[in-house]
Amino acid sequence: MPDCTRELPYTTDPFDKFKEECGVFAVYGHPEAANLTHLGLHALQHRGQESAGISSSDGKTVDTFKSMGHVADIFTAGVLSRLRGHMAIGHTRYSTAGDTVLNNAQPFSVACAKGRIAVAHNGNITNAMELRNELEAHGSIFQASSDTEVVLHLVARSHQRTLADALRQALQVLEGAFSLVFLAGDRVIVARDPHGFRPLAIGRMNLAQGPAYVFASETCAFDLIDAHYVGEVEPGEMVIAGPEGLTREFFTLPLNRAQCVFEHVYFSRPDSTVFGSSVHQSREMMGRLLAAEMPVEADVVVPIPDSGVAAALGYAHASGIPFRHGLIRNHYVGRTFIEPSQAIRDFGVRLKLNPVRGILQGKSVVLVDDSLVRGTTSQKIVRMVRSAGAREVHLRISCPPTISPCFYGVDTPTKRELIAANQSIEEIRQFIGCDTLAYLSLEKLSEAVNDGDKRYCYACYTGQYPTELVNIETLMASRPNR
Ligand code: AMP
Repeated sequence: MPDCTRELPYTTDPFDKFKEECGVFAVYGHPEAANLTHLGLHALQHRGQESAGISSSDGKTVDTFKSMGHVADIFTAGVLSRLRGHMAIGHTRYSTAGDTVLNNAQPFSVACAKGRIAVAHNGNITNAMELRNELEAHGSIFQASSDTEVVLHLVARSHQRTLADALRQALQVLEGAFSLVFLAGDRVIVARDPHGFRPLAIGRMNLAQGPAYVFASETCAFDLIDAHYVGEVEPGEMVIAGPEGLTREFFTLPLNRAQCVFEHVYFSRPDSTVFGSSVHQSREMMGRLLAAEMPVEADVVVPIPDSGVAAALGYAHASGIPFRHGLIRNHYVGRTFIEPSQAIRDFGVRLKLNPVRGILQGKSVVLVDDSLVRGTTSQKIVRMVRSAGAREVHLRISCPPTISPCFYGVDTPTKRELIAANQSIEEIRQFIGCDTLAYLSLEKLSEAVNDGDKRYCYACYTGQYPTELVNIETLMASRPNR
């Protein structure tokens, strides 16, 4: 699960707009819509920690509040009391440094001839630049650099009569990854791109006055508010929640499925159901398969918390090596710590993780983590485990080597910074300083997520992108500093 306390974004890259990580939530038909959205966003905080926002509506007016920071700090009782109405949408956003301005915080909201509309988005619209250039050439004025605003301008310019028709038309010209939630007049409308890159789940609450409908990036947001998981918004589908209940339709034909496998590897919470399956189960299976594929004789299996825990449990079960919490995480680390002027080695990692000497001393340790991106964190952790007395350190990664950046909504560094894109496994092992290093194979990862019918995107492990984006990759590769 993403680390809410990480201190630095991976990169300040001109292609930042491909790197937003976000969580979205929406509710229709509940008298406390904004309060529920606040709780939903709280459960989705791990998907984005830079800014958060809520728009609520009674069907006529839209109130929005958004700010930089964490959900718990932004939405005070006073703020929530001003967000009225029976429908609301919410957003948590993480983006890399250059792009981190309040202007880009969501939801975005506009009034147009067809009524007032607000939107929140998870994913990356890969033709946003072209669409934006076209819209600007025809007089649209943009306030933010985020790709999401494009959707509102498309709706505003549409000649369709109703908001739903204008939305349908706008969705048809978008490319790339989008799970979108809208407040559109007196309805909540949600949609998912035809490849289904990012998740979007539907839930239902049974109230005395009738059902309320909720939508969220992950089902952990439903648990907190006692909503029942109904299923997924299907790729290419638009779902409308209104006085008539739930209406489902396809705004376009679904394309080849490309569900992000990294949601299961790292990004989503293990207590969520994502793309219809349990994240904890798939992560544990990754660990089991890793133990079978890359065994090692050792005394103890130690997870790198929190994201390595489920895979480490699987590894321990399958290998029979005892599972122990040999690294303890401090969950209260903020970004405000000032490093003492006298340099402390590996300060950032040590603030967050501390070894349990009694578990590690004299032991041969299997360290399990979900992923290895630049390799710098693992290097520090291995050093820490050795200095706590471990005799041997064997690093096991529960996914394949990450060799290509994501353009569909996960913040991965440029190819230049991805260690596995540039070095062999033996070179990485030497850099990290462990005794052995091994990854889960692509084939076993696919088995762990039950991908017999090829529904997942593995572009970060294969470099093969499921959309035309390969052109942008070529463009990036040709840039001198990549
Ligand atoms: P590093 O290899 O030093 O870049 O760090 C790898 C660690 O970062 C792993 O333990 C992951 O849990 C975590 N990680 C992987 N992907 C991401 C991401 N997109 N954003 C933040 N952290 C990540």
